[in-house]
Parts: sequence; C-alpha cells; structure tokens
Amino acid sequence: MSTPLYGRVALIGLGLIASSMALAMRRAGLATDITGYARSAETRATALELGLVDSVHATAAEAVAGADLVVLAVPVGAMGALASEIAPALAPGATVTDVGSVKQAVIAAVAPHLPAGVQFIPGHPIAGTEQSGPRAGFAELFDNRWCILTPTPDTDAAALERLRALWNGMGANVDVMEPDHHDLVLAVTSHAPHLIAYTMVGVADDLRRVTDSEVIKYSAAGFRDFTRIAASDPVMWRDVFLTNKAATLEILGRFTEELFALQRAIRRGDGDHLHDYFARTRAIRRGIIDAGQDTDAPDFGRGPHRGR
Ligand code: NAP
Repeated sequence: MSTPLYGRVALIGLGLIASSMALAMRRAGLATDITGYARSAETRATALELGLVDSVHATAAEAVAGADLVVLAVPVGAMGALASEIAPALAPGATVTDVGSVKQAVIAAVAPHLPAGVQFIPGHPIAGTEQSGPRAGFAELFDNRWCILTPTPDTDAAALERLRALWNGMGANVDVMEPDHHDLVLAVTSHAPHLIAYTMVGVADDLRRVTDSEVIKYSAAGFRDFTRIAASDPVMWRDVFLTNKAATLEILGRFTEELFALQRAIRRGDGDHLHDYFARTRAIRRGIIDAGQDTDAPDFGRGPHRGR
C-alpha cells in the first residue's frame, strides 16, 4: 500500500470504467475515500453494495463536495451538463479529469463551465470491454494498458504529475498528447473498427439466405470477434461518432478506398495484391502482441475477466 495520492476522489458515473478505477485505486490505496454519483438509484445501490465507493449521492454536485479529484465517467454527450452542475460545488484547487473516448468535444463541452483555480486535465484510458455498469469493473482492467492525458498549456505541472501517478498506481502507462491528435489516433485504432464491426454484424443479420443458427454455429470463423466489439454500449458509441465526426469520417473515407482496391484485386484475381496486403497486416498484429497489448492465445486470452 502506498500513501494516498488524493484525499477524496469523486466518481461521476459508476459504470465499467469508474468501477474499475475504484477497484484499482483501492487495490493500491491511492485515495483516502471515494464518493460516487450515478443517475439511477439502482446503480448507486450496487456501487455501495460492492464497496466501490464509501458514499453515494443522488446529485453530482453533492458527490464532488470536498473532493481533491473529480472523474467524469459518463458517456461523452453527458459530460457538459454534468460539468455545469458540479462547477459551483467544486473545491478550490481540485482537479477535474474525465475518461471519455473523445477529447476535443469533451474539452469544448466541459472547460467553459469550470471555475478558475480548478485544474482540468482530460484523459482517456485505452482499456475497456463490451460490458457496462458497476458490476462490470475489475481492478486489473488498466494493468499494462495506456492512458492518454491531454492537458492544456495552462495545466499546472504538479497537478499533471499527480494524475499521472494515479494512473501509474492503477497499473497504466501514461502518454501525453494533443487532443486533436488523440482523436485521430483513436479514430484509427478504435472508432472506425467499432463502426466496421457494427456494419459487419448488421450485414450478417440482413443476409436472410444464411440462417441465424448458421451465423451463430459457424461464428468462430471470424464473425465472433466482430460480434464482441459490436456488443459494446450503444449510448457510448453513439456519442463517440457524434463527437468525433471529422476524424472518423476521414478514416472511413480511407477505409472505403482500400476496400475498393481489395474488391478490385478479388475481381481481377490479383493474388499478389491480396497476399502482400495480408502479409503487411499480419505484421501489425505481431507488433501488437510483441508490445504486450494482446496475447496470441487461441481465445485471445479473453477469459471471463480478461475481455478487452
Ligand atoms: P457505462 O458502464 O455504460 O456507465 C456509464 C455511467 O454513466 C453509468 O453510471 C450511468 O448511470 C451514467 N450515465 C449515463 N448517461 C448519463 C447521463 N445522461 N447523465 C448522468 N449519468 C449518466 O460506461 P463506461 O463504459 O464506464 O464509459 C464511461 C466513459 O468512459 C465514456 O465516456 C466512454 O467513452 C469512456 N470509455 C469507455 C471505455 C469502454 O470500453 N467501455 C473505454 C475507455 C473509455 P446509470 O447506471 O445510473 O444509468
């Protein structure tokens, strides 16, 4: 156990990411106490029952009272309204961070509400699963994953280092990045792939000549991995595409061009093109495994608590 890095930490939203943060903070003794807010009484009761938080509150403003660190862990589209609600209740000198999957839109929605003297350090842990809610969290979610922080030029260096230490204490490595660069990188690595998975599962659903039972029975042929991604939370992903519009459209435009080129290679029987392309992509997969960001186990290492 280390000395707590923060006194009170307030978790605004008590879903997968916030519950994993609570468990990871408890694991390493990083906070003196944890308060929480969630929209529904059911989520609040569950968070208390699981011991994720020391107290729960029916409003976000009550939850942030006296907090050193406030974490916005709700869907991206909900962050602006919550920032406006908590602003008058924030303690002077507090740090506000978030875990949203998009950065520029969150900064535009949240920053204008925050009073002077409060440090706003946007963040995004690159770790997750297709599960939602307070029961989905686990302490190891961030172990050996990356967390990207996108501070502004005005961010206090000591506040940034403290938040970096918190993420390190929860098991993650930290990178600092410009918000627009974050949004482009994530459009490539996360947002566009999710849209493609949603589309592929939608296409299979539309193909009436292949029965539902055949789709399920033979899913291990590749489709299964798309279905895992396409089972992700609809609200979270709706908000990601509404708020990272420019970068995802840019990547999807490139994707469409590549898809047409592969389509042409198939039509022309251009095996060299297909082979070279697949050899290049296989090397990328190897690089991900070598970097420790996935395993080459047959089930991708995704046992009950390893899903990502
Ligand atoms: P989650 O499990 O679905 O939990 C969302 C939480 O936000 C719940 O406590 C929910 O309250 C609350 N909430 C939802 N809409 C709200 C609203 N309009 N006003 C107030 N509270 C609201 O979500 P999550 O997966 O933890 O995601 C939280 C954030 O982390 C999102 O911004 C997401 O982009 C980001 N993120 C997610 C992943 C991932 O893989 N899931 C990875 C990295 C970052 P109730 O339970 O009471 O409805």
